Amino acid sequence: MSGLEDLYREIILDHYRSPRNRGELAVPPAHRTEGFNPLCGDEIVVYVDVEDPSKGADAVITDVKIGGQGCSISQASASMMSAAVKGKTVAEVADLTKAFKAMMSIHESTLEGEDAAPEPDDVPEVSLGDLEALRGVVRFPVRIKCATLSWNTLGQAIEEAATTTA
Ligand code: ZN
Repeated sequence: MSGLEDLYREIILDHYRSPRNRGELAVPPAHRTEGFNPLCGDEIVVYVDVEDPSKGADAVITDVKIGGQGCSISQASASMMSAAVKGKTVAEVADLTKAFKAMMSIHESTLEGEDAAPEPDDVPEVSLGDLEALRGVVRFPVRIKCATLSWNTLGQAIEEAATTTA
């Protein structure tokens, strides 16, 4: 339709065809968590290296690798996520996750005919970069779970890494 939409489609296809940070990490020290979206059959495996998890929110995600298979949205989202969170702190990743989910859910509520105004205090002001390309997904509510699967899996992986690493 619009030039922006074409650009978004290109970014998504690029991440789908050339996924970033694809592979595995040695476990341990890395942590491995699987996510599954039964609605679409998407599988995501997240390997995450959290440096010094005892630092909590200040701990740094030193490396991320992605495995699994599924639709283009789920795999492109996982690729974008891996590029976006690598080298960030747990707190920064939490902000990014919140901002990404806000982008998804704000539009979700629009589709339901509710007030779409976001709570300004709730949405961190962070740049989503390539992740903006997934904005169009909200027009297909059934695909939102495809886009958020990798983020939910990452969140679980970070949580588990913090509680299982001595
Ligand atoms: Zn999917």
